[in-house]
Amino acid sequence: MENKEQAQRVIYQEPIDSLMQQTNSSNNGLSTTLAKEKLEKDGLNQLKEAPKKPTWKLFLETFKDAMVIVLLIVALIQMIMGEYVEFFVIFAVLMLNSVISVVQAKKAEGSLEALKNLSAPDARVIRDGKEKTVPAKELVVGDLVLLEAGDYVPADGRLLEAGSLQVDEGMLTGESTAAEKEVVEITNTVPVGDRVNMVFSGTIVTYGRGKFLVTSTANNTEIGQVAGLLESTTEQATPLQRGLDKFSKKLSLAILALSLLILGIQLLRIFLGEGTGDLTVDIVNAVMFAVAVAVAAIPEALQSIVTIVLSLGTNKMAKRHAIIRKLPAVETLGSTSIICTDKTGTLTQNKMTVVDYYLANGNSGDFTDNPEKWSDDERRLIEISVLANDASISEDGTKLGDPTEVAFIDFSEKLNQPYQEIRSNFPREAELPFDSDRKLMSTAHTFDNEKYLLVKGGPDIVFNRSKKVLLNGEVVPMTDELMTNFQNQNEAFSNRALRVLAFAYRPIDNLDLTFDDENDLILVGILAMIDPPRKEVTQAVEEARSAGIKTVMITGDHKTTAVAIAKEIGIFEEGNQALTGTELDALSEDELMNILENVTVYARVSPENKIRIVRAWQAKGHISAMTGDGVNDAPALKQADIGIAMGTGTDVAKDAAAMVLTDDNFASIVSAVEVGRNVFDNIKKAVAYLFAGNLGAIIAIIFALVADWSNPFTALQLLFINLVNDSLPAIALGTEKAEPATMSRPPRDPNTGIFTGRTLVSVTYRGILIGIAVIFAQWLGMQHSPEFGVAMSFTTLIWCRTLQTFPARSNTQTAIQAGFFANKVVLIAVVVCSALFSLTMIPGLKEVFSIPTAFGISEILICLGIAFVTILLMEITKLIIVHVQNGKEKE
Ligand code: ATP
Repeated sequence: MENKEQAQRVIYQEPIDSLMQQTNSSNNGLSTTLAKEKLEKDGLNQLKEAPKKPTWKLFLETFKDAMVIVLLIVALIQMIMGEYVEFFVIFAVLMLNSVISVVQAKKAEGSLEALKNLSAPDARVIRDGKEKTVPAKELVVGDLVLLEAGDYVPADGRLLEAGSLQVDEGMLTGESTAAEKEVVEITNTVPVGDRVNMVFSGTIVTYGRGKFLVTSTANNTEIGQVAGLLESTTEQATPLQRGLDKFSKKLSLAILALSLLILGIQLLRIFLGEGTGDLTVDIVNAVMFAVAVAVAAIPEALQSIVTIVLSLGTNKMAKRHAIIRKLPAVETLGSTSIICTDKTGTLTQNKMTVVDYYLANGNSGDFTDNPEKWSDDERRLIEISVLANDASISEDGTKLGDPTEVAFIDFSEKLNQPYQEIRSNFPREAELPFDSDRKLMSTAHTFDNEKYLLVKGGPDIVFNRSKKVLLNGEVVPMTDELMTNFQNQNEAFSNRALRVLAFAYRPIDNLDLTFDDENDLILVGILAMIDPPRKEVTQAVEEARSAGIKTVMITGDHKTTAVAIAKEIGIFEEGNQALTGTELDALSEDELMNILENVTVYARVSPENKIRIVRAWQAKGHISAMTGDGVNDAPALKQADIGIAMGTGTDVAKDAAAMVLTDDNFASIVSAVEVGRNVFDNIKKAVAYLFAGNLGAIIAIIFALVADWSNPFTALQLLFINLVNDSLPAIALGTEKAEPATMSRPPRDPNTGIFTGRTLVSVTYRGILIGIAVIFAQWLGMQHSPEFGVAMSFTTLIWCRTLQTFPARSNTQTAIQAGFFANKVVLIAVVVCSALFSLTMIPGLKEVFSIPTAFGISEILICLGIAFVTILLMEITKLIIVHVQNGKEKE
């Protein structure tokens, strides 16, 4: 389109043929080659994002930190005083620190971005005359796009087909009721909300089906004009991140106070004449030391480490078919105590096969596979099942559509009756699409010059609406006996865990269909399908149970079928209850609360029922995960603590969900829970590692101050330790695999933060041990000289912190028990830390780090020995605690 502005105005008035011509499209859609050319020329169909912060800006921002600024000033003063080496080293350390921060931030951003791309929406288009699925962002002007309930409209366009199409355009027009769309000509000028022959990008199909010609994409769409630039999305902080942030702020204040106290005491000493004699040098050193204490003790890497560990978790989950859309979900998953899951496709394979049938004359069992011999009733049953049906089989044999509907065309083909033959003999003239509230689908066709509505749906629903029956080719009134027979047969099929659908029809006067037309039906018969449970589901339900997580089935299907399957996979146990949506509606809030824990199956539910069930569990203090796929499931998915959408579900459900299952499989939820628990454990381990190391250093500093020893570390040493020992081992701990007991302990109480009793005790214990080790090392060195003392405490702290990575790997297992070589990343982190440490021993650099020339390999080994004993003590204590605990549990 040349002049987009002008084109935009007249698209809804333009004849379709002319639009087709202008966009180089046809009934076969664009050719793949042309679509590709257009994409290259016009760009991706996505709203332009505001540009991201450039890397240099991120880098500069790291210098906004007050501590860094003070250090820079100190470094400058050093330079002015002619201490070039000191200046250079501080500067280098600061630079390196900033580079590491930027790399971490970029990595976290990158993996979140990758996840976002994984859950980006697709669109169904017709290209080269064939139906294809392409990423919505690759749509171009001229594409023919198919729409169904639950889709986000992926671009603006003119409707070519509309079957009861309704679209929620609230976000564009502010209108709260869905707009009905039609393929009509509009000649006068009307506002956007009245352009009923068009659909607009970003609006939601709430009902029906449609096909449209894309006329504008990306920022040329209506929404693109309104929205302008899309803010680049910032990730929401998780409760854990917020908690840690608060905690870090408090801790930072305490540490600042401590640094000021240290500064005060040192200044006092300088003025009392205990300095070197050069006042400026002494003051600069005192300030620098106080700043270094603050830098070393404040866990500034914490936030980015937590984000990285969380995103490592999302990567792991993605590999296990669970795509995280909202980062807090990773954490919440670890606290999940109830999973409310759909049945069809999630617990079952969704591979349906018709295995039995029943007609009013009592016929059932094997259906004859010679269509010539079919009775009128049999023929009508197959006709309805194929005509009130949207599924199809493509040329290459791929089955397209809802598996329930695919089962019916498969059945017809198996009986040697090509489904296409029936469809071309009786083309569809109008329709009332399926929705899970009504549990019905109807289409209109002409037979012998008479118009009929063909209806299929849940048997209970269809039975209730049937006033007549087709019995041996004749329409007779429904009798109690016939109805009872149908109901008994439905119950018998359901008891065999079969999914049953009923088929009926009625004559109609015209094609203006309403839901009222789905009454006064003539019942024809029922078809029963098997949909076997997924193999891995029974074990997953059991695994969830031992992890303290209850599984509840919530299904649109018939109660008996649902219970039969729930029993098979261990969800429904002796003494459990099953409720239908209607029974649930009849319960008062109190009544529901009383029986809630005992109800493991909800059948024939509506999407509203789902919200009530989730709320009830939440009221009992549970963290609930809930699956959903339909357009009406969005509110329940939002209400749940973790909304889980199916990969095959609607865009709307996916958008409302915190997690999307790419394989629709229940077992993937349980597997994601395990990762969620593992991630939280690992963050705890990383944080404990950081705090224990910092605590050790502070204990040694305070002790030296009180004992009137010289500072155990120089400022530069502290900065160096901060650089070497903070991020790398902590991130390495974030890659620890799950502890053996991960899925046999109850879910974590979401209200408890990281520092629960056990972690706090272990951080303090490890911190004190490191502190004592450093003090001991300093004392040992001081026997030689105060400088040796400092070198010894520095070296011991580095070793202790580096080796502490091993005990930090697990709360219940020693590094040997957990497999010493099991986590390669930890080993690499330890090797890198050791290598970086050896830099300080290079002649030349030794001086800068205040290491005496005489300090050699034997001293390093002594420090290593002290650190080793410290780590050994940590591990032995762990063994004893675990032993005592196991003993108690056995009692
Ligand atoms: P779940 O809720 O466990 O995913 P479900 O597929 O049974 O299972 P819905 O898709 O909400 O849930 O369907 C509800 C009911 O509507 C089904 O049990 C069935 O009786 C009926 N039904 C399902 N699909 C169709 C269809 N394509 N046409 C007509 N009726 C259908």
